[in-house]
Amino acid sequence: MVQNLQRLAAEWIVSLSLAGAWVALVLLQLARNAIAVRRKTQKPQASITRVEPPAAVRAAPLAERAEPATGVRMAAMAAAAEPSLSRGAIMSDNFDVVIIGGGPGGYNAAIRAGQLGMTAACVDKRGTFGGTCLNIGCIPSKALLYASELYDEAGGEKFAKLGIKAQVSLDLPAMMAHKTKVVGELTKGVEFLFKKNKVEGIIGEARIASPGQVVVKLPDGTTRTLNTKNIVIATGSDVMPLPGVTVDEERIVSSTGALSLKSVPKRLLVVGGGYIGLELGSVWRRLGSDVTVVEFLDRITPGLDGEISKQFQRLLQRQGMKFFLSTKVAGVEKKGDTLRVNVESTDGQKQVLEADVVLVSIGRRPYTDGTGLAEAGVKLDPRGRVVTDAHYKTNVPGIWAIGDCREGPMLAHKAEDEAVACIERMAGKAGHVNYDAIPAVVYTAPEVASVGKTEEELKAAGVVYKVGKFPFTANARAKTIAATEGFAKILADAKTDRILGAHIMGANAGEMIAEMALAIEFGAASEDVARTSHPHPTLSEAIRQAAMGVEGWTMQM
Ligand SMILES: Cc1cc2nc3c(=O)[nH]c(=O)nc-3n(C[C@H](O)[C@H](O)[C@H](O)COP(=O)(O)OP(=O)(O)OC[C@H]3O[C@@H](n4cnc5c(N)ncnc54)[C@H](O)[C@@H]3O)c2cc1C
Repeated sequence: MVQNLQRLAAEWIVSLSLAGAWVALVLLQLARNAIAVRRKTQKPQASITRVEPPAAVRAAPLAERAEPATGVRMAAMAAAAEPSLSRGAIMSDNFDVVIIGGGPGGYNAAIRAGQLGMTAACVDKRGTFGGTCLNIGCIPSKALLYASELYDEAGGEKFAKLGIKAQVSLDLPAMMAHKTKVVGELTKGVEFLFKKNKVEGIIGEARIASPGQVVVKLPDGTTRTLNTKNIVIATGSDVMPLPGVTVDEERIVSSTGALSLKSVPKRLLVVGGGYIGLELGSVWRRLGSDVTVVEFLDRITPGLDGEISKQFQRLLQRQGMKFFLSTKVAGVEKKGDTLRVNVESTDGQKQVLEADVVLVSIGRRPYTDGTGLAEAGVKLDPRGRVVTDAHYKTNVPGIWAIGDCREGPMLAHKAEDEAVACIERMAGKAGHVNYDAIPAVVYTAPEVASVGKTEEELKAAGVVYKVGKFPFTANARAKTIAATEGFAKILADAKTDRILGAHIMGANAGEMIAEMALAIEFGAASEDVARTSHPHPTLSEAIRQAAMGVEGWTMQM
């Protein structure tokens, strides 16, 4: 009995020890695994030595790597990017990509590169980032357009119609201060986004020394050489000069000067009936100028749908703008305080128009001066635009181009779209821009917005199409806000009903066009828009009614 008990106890102790040993072994293994996992996931310490991606990844330029930048590759790129956390202090001169130009093309390219784990630098010589758009284009012009519209409405018929009596007066320096503040905040915002995405923003003038090397002349006169696998040209555009007319940015101004006039000119003559001239002409007309537009072509806003363009001109005329179409400006003479503008119509009639300020706004041209493109062998087209393939590669390996400096509409969001697609291509992804779905907006009152094809383009291409239209006079919301000018127009393929173009003139057209850009991007039929619920009462219901009109069942007219 005792022996049995002793045997049982002994067996029990042995099993306990075995179980203990097993548990200990399991614990040991778990601990080992935990250490291994921690080692694997631990981020490399930021240090002065850059952690390079594995040789296999390093060997080929990013652009030529076939597979998508996922998995091991992304991890390698992320690892390479890590030390840039402290790059402000380190100032590494080696990058995956150096972007020349910090406008909507350049800064968005830099941000996307940072997001994808590339080491990126963005160089701009302006002194602040944001390019033409944020500094002297989209943003300051929209700030003045909004403020001047309110001023115009408050002092005009609209307020009276709505039962509001107001006495308004203009504080131009305060209006300009608002514009300057907004510009400052947004350009600072780009710097914040650079930091957030580990991009090094460099202020200086960049020149391509050779593919793979960019020399930057810094504000203090010294130079810095950046070595890079890829260079993106995003140098944008500049004002197109008018032969024989010298811009002084005081009385003969470009769009830049027109954004900062110190007083409201009594008479403003705008050379060019494109969207920039009409927007800035609208600003100063609302503030009190007598505005005359001289346009060489027989219509304003040449890229817009012809029907819209005609009605748009009529509305601007009703607001007090005067137009000389099919007329060119031959020269401007300064005579005392007056500018004498010599104009000549296409049928040979000459006359002199007088103005206090002349705004030269005949378009923009690509800007690539001093970037060393010619020396690097990068091809330009006869209009001075950088030639690229559909993936934004130039003829020189490792050099890419995006935005206003290449072909296509000179618009900030087009530059942004190309930036994303270009960088994604560089990272081996499938970035793509659908040029049929890029909207364009004229921020006058009413606004004019369009996306896709115009009737003229469809006719020229021999496409059979149907049209649906709806006027804002029949839209409930437009009536409530006393903004009934204009109409929405949708063009759809007659056979497939696929939407090919959309054109809106009316209040908030610029916001509403995004719905139609999305519709075109998704290959929607007009029926898809017609059967999509739109909130009531909204201006967007006019678009739905226009879409119904394509198949002839507009209900509210
Ligand atoms: C008055 C006005 C209003 C506009 N309104 C609108 C609008 O409402 N909506 C819209 O979509 N578009 C608008 N635009 C057009 C828009 O500004 C441009 O399409 C857009 O800025 C193009 O972006 P980008 O990056 O290609 O070039 P940019 O914005 O021109 O930026 C290029 C940058 O490159 C820099 N650079 C050039 N060479 C060098 C070099 N060698 N080294 C370093 N830096 C260099 C320049 O300093 C510049 O900052 C407007 C333009 C103007 C003038």
